[in-house]
Amino acid sequence: MLLGLSEVSVESVERAETSMTVTVSTPWHRMGCPDCGVVAPSRGRRRRVLHDVPHGDVRVRLVWRQRMWRCPEAGCPRGTFTEQVPTLVAARGSITVRAVAWAIGQLRREHATIAGLARRLAVSWWALWRAIKPVLERLAGDESRFAGVRSLGVDEHIWHHGDRHVRGPKELTGMVDLTRDEKGRVRARLLDLVPGRSKKAYADWLNERGEAFRAKIAVAALDPFGGYKAAIDDQLADATAVLDAFHVVKLGTAVVDEVRRRVQQDTTGHRGRKGDPLFGIQTILRAGAEHLTDKQWARLTRALEANDAHEEVFVAWQCAQDLRAAYHARDLADGRKLAEHVLNSFHTCPIPEVARLGRTLRRWRDAFLAYFDTGRQNNGPTEAVNGLIELHRRLARGYRNYDNYRLRMLLAAGGLTT
Ligand SMILES: [Zn+2]
Repeated sequence: MLLGLSEVSVESVERAETSMTVTVSTPWHRMGCPDCGVVAPSRGRRRRVLHDVPHGDVRVRLVWRQRMWRCPEAGCPRGTFTEQVPTLVAARGSITVRAVAWAIGQLRREHATIAGLARRLAVSWWALWRAIKPVLERLAGDESRFAGVRSLGVDEHIWHHGDRHVRGPKELTGMVDLTRDEKGRVRARLLDLVPGRSKKAYADWLNERGEAFRAKIAVAALDPFGGYKAAIDDQLADATAVLDAFHVVKLGTAVVDEVRRRVQQDTTGHRGRKGDPLFGIQTILRAGAEHLTDKQWARLTRALEANDAHEEVFVAWQCAQDLRAAYHARDLADGRKLAEHVLNSFHTCPIPEVARLGRTLRRWRDAFLAYFDTGRQNNGPTEAVNGLIELHRRLARGYRNYDNYRLRMLLAAGGLTT
């Protein structure tokens, strides 16, 4: 059971109902003074209590009988010194190295929280975070994690909704690796989060990565935000800018929502409430038509036929479906045709929200169509990373410090290689 504790041996194990105490020590060894090298006589031992990986509900404490020595050399400044076993515990730590690794694994894979893990280890939130943070910092500082990125996504990310004077910028810019593996799959990972949502935020980050990194980026995916495009034009001149499908489909969905709310207000004079025909169909309107059940179809039809004015909602919904269909087309050439049809029709639509989306897409024409010329970047990866960030943002709502938040999100969304 003491795998990973190769440098110490077990002296005794005491079991109680909900806890276990394991006493460990290192075998005797001759010790020289770290400063002068003179062989140092023992000064006895002291007991150091460490928190170790729990076994289910059983808390495990390691009592380390830590050796102490004293340098006998008169002129040496060292005096008394204590044994260090870095594979067991960090110099001033109270949580074993393997418990720290366990906690990091739980945070990453089990969607655990620091608070929950701290409880299981019987330490404070801060004690656990203090032990974890340097490990995450070391991983985050390792530039080799940026190697091999060919396809790079960028995305706005809302960190908090609080006061920016108290908590700093609300928006962060997130960089996502969208590179395919040999099998053509994308395992998206969050590469970084930097404060702000601007050309500068992205351009500075790209600049810091160095020429070799930038030269390898062939595809730069982005949401339709001019600042990011400007950064790509500046720093990734040779890459093809592609509008991220996830964000474009989201724009279409947002238009349907807007039209539904406007028509709702116009026809009833109030926001949607129970009993209104347009109330409660938001989820149906957001889904792809191909996923709707018969029951959902019936509900949608009933709602849209309830009033002639609802025609506008139907048209907006169809437009959003057309946009989706372009991305979902099996054949990229077919998809491109559908996309061109969107570009040639939306901006003249009598529904103002649809026309506005049409104008946006026409402004982004090249990047919009580039999706169909770059072998498609499907929705899944960006969506998956956003979903993980969203989940962990809720789990980690206590993070008021950007550095801590960044490390936590990088761990959650695959940015750190452990
Ligand atoms: Zn000495």
